[in-house]
Amino acid sequence: MENGTHYRTCNLCEAMCGVAIEVENGQINSIKGDDQDPFSRGHICPKALGLKDIHEDPDRLRQPVQRTASGWQPISWDEAFEQVSERLSTIQSEHGRNAAGLYLGNPNVHNHGALLATGSFVGALGTRNRYSATSNDQLPHMLANLKMFGNAMLFPVPDIDHTDLFICLGGNPMASNGSLMTVPDFRGRLKELQQRGGRFIVIDPRRSETADKADAFHFIRPGTDPWLLMGMLHILFKEDAIDPAIAREFSDDLALLEVAALPYPPEVVEGITGIDADSIRNLALALAVTPRALLYSRLGTSTQQFGGLATWLVYAINIITGKLDREGGLRFTEPAVDLVGLGALTGQTGHFARRHSRVRGLPEFGGEFPASTMAEEMLTPGEGQIRAFVTVAGNPVLSSPSGQSLDEAFAGLDFMVSVDYYINETTRHADIILPPTASLERSHYDLAFNTLAVRNVTKFSDALFEPEGDTRSDWQILTELAHRLTRRKHKLGLQGELAWRSYKAMGPDRILDLLLRTGPYGTDGQQLQPVLQQLAEMADRVLPKSNPFRTLLRNSGIHPRWQDRMKGLSLARLRESPHGVDLGPLRSTLPDRLQTRSGRVNLVPREYLKDLPRLHGATQEALATSDQSLRLIGRRQLRSNNSWMHNSQRLVKGKVRCTVQVHPRDVSRLGLVDGESARVSSEAGSITLPVEATEAVMPGVASIPHGWGHDRNGVELSVAQAHAGASINDVISDRQVDSFSGVSVLNGQTVTIAPARSKRSRKRTAANTA
Ligand code: SF4
Repeated sequence: MENGTHYRTCNLCEAMCGVAIEVENGQINSIKGDDQDPFSRGHICPKALGLKDIHEDPDRLRQPVQRTASGWQPISWDEAFEQVSERLSTIQSEHGRNAAGLYLGNPNVHNHGALLATGSFVGALGTRNRYSATSNDQLPHMLANLKMFGNAMLFPVPDIDHTDLFICLGGNPMASNGSLMTVPDFRGRLKELQQRGGRFIVIDPRRSETADKADAFHFIRPGTDPWLLMGMLHILFKEDAIDPAIAREFSDDLALLEVAALPYPPEVVEGITGIDADSIRNLALALAVTPRALLYSRLGTSTQQFGGLATWLVYAINIITGKLDREGGLRFTEPAVDLVGLGALTGQTGHFARRHSRVRGLPEFGGEFPASTMAEEMLTPGEGQIRAFVTVAGNPVLSSPSGQSLDEAFAGLDFMVSVDYYINETTRHADIILPPTASLERSHYDLAFNTLAVRNVTKFSDALFEPEGDTRSDWQILTELAHRLTRRKHKLGLQGELAWRSYKAMGPDRILDLLLRTGPYGTDGQQLQPVLQQLAEMADRVLPKSNPFRTLLRNSGIHPRWQDRMKGLSLARLRESPHGVDLGPLRSTLPDRLQTRSGRVNLVPREYLKDLPRLHGATQEALATSDQSLRLIGRRQLRSNNSWMHNSQRLVKGKVRCTVQVHPRDVSRLGLVDGESARVSSEAGSITLPVEATEAVMPGVASIPHGWGHDRNGVELSVAQAHAGASINDVISDRQVDSFSGVSVLNGQTVTIAPARSKRSRKRTAANTA
């Protein structure tokens, strides 16, 4: 790589920040924010420097390895591919195709090569037992997108740059830099919101970094969000605060929604949520009367006992108060590679509950079963039991509930292969590990996160460095495995073989180029329109009136609102713009963007109505819940990125961050001591970690960050092991899921906390007692 400054997008989180990387003699000298990036405007977070640490990390695998009696041994790629395809296909031919399981981790979504290769690999593996991080995260949002807007990828995104009231429920964008809301420089954008007189309100069981910036903050008891939202709905109807004309513009069923909210007046809801009735009323009415306003919810709301219902209610409230598709409300994006449009073209808009998991009968979503069913599907004998497993860029032992059960399950498999460049808590169970190139060694394009961006933008970055060692890109690994698996399962003729070879040779960037050229900004609209008109006139002359092609061509003109946007975008054009291309602010796109059969928003999908009795049935129990029990919640940290960035010394140094935060009242009630170890226990297991007494959490709440717990045997992450922490997922039970959507309950499970006394202090206590 030439000396100088190179511009690219940071791939670590959703924010898509532009980075300027200065390289000298093949080494990274510095990583700074790219001031010329029109989207991130120079912003980066401390994690960006982690790009250098991952690139240089001596623990990163640079060639395939195989587990042997004498430890991990290098193995050639050809041998590794042969063994993996042979073992997987043999196990599947002996025990059925569903005897193989597949888990796709979150980093895949930040990697266009991996994303574009996944389909062929999934097809070749042919198993129904697929899992991903979706069911530990945004599944309820995708379900609501599918049921209400017709496509699981059609996310409504906060128009933060134009809003005057932003209500944030269960999210911490100051630490996450946006989630299902790609928003680099959230802090700066929030400041602008407040400078133009807007208000920012946060509702959370923890006074988070985001809450510290809020104009108003409300504690809410973990897992009670659907009751709060019902209370807000109740008020909106009772006080006639919705505009039926706006609400009915795109949707029906207002009356059903009103009936659903009847049993939840704020005076009832306050006893469940801990938010007083007046505040609930004010929140609802403020949203209703502020023209440019929005209600946003994230992981704290989606991953709870009623995560599906709660997320639907958030969407519904935005719709009936006229915040959907409006400036400063929730809007749909128009990205350069339009996954939503492609989904409609290919019939891949998403699906739900087409089948149910073998052991517990939980529903699939988009072809994946809930991650909380993974361990039982491996551990429960019988037809369809998983005996072989593939993980791709995932570490479910730390990132999925019941991590200890997953440890046991992976250890008992007949065969396991991991595509990963670390020997981590999950991949240490693999028989073979196939290491992909690091992110700076491959090109980068955000296929997924442009779909979630608060502004329409696009940017491509070429690989910065040649791959080190003997690594392959994710695309190469997955397509090679897919090809070999297909060859073993079916006889491939000459044609089939040639098709596979050409597909592999094409590579992700050529496919991306095709997608850009055929996308909404691809073809030059000014040039295409007259051509389409000529074709239509020609068809009128030569084709009979009844021929459907006449109608098709007559209607195929480019909508005027697209014409000015179609600028002949291609990979070459993006390469000419290393800082990225601004495609403009979010705009109104309804009803065109909807993919429902009716062409209207489905305000009250019947699946949600069917789940309402469950909420109703839980109301009495929720009212009876006392603050004496402790409810567990997670904690997002700016210097942490799920489970895989703890091997960067600069990101883990300083004070211990893996602590259990407890309110001082509970600290004294439970005999805990600030800074000393405590044992946190649940039906899933126990962990020990330091207590952090803080009024930042509400009484009755325990907060632990996730992604820690690197002290398991066999892990080869030298820095992370020295800062091991404990895994919250060892005390989160995989038995607790939202039975409607299948999302894991990561927030609101009950735990107990007791002092973890050392042997010496226990002896001293015993002697004193005697
Ligand atoms: S906010 Fe995310 S994208 Fe931006 S620098 Fe940090 S990790 Fe990278």
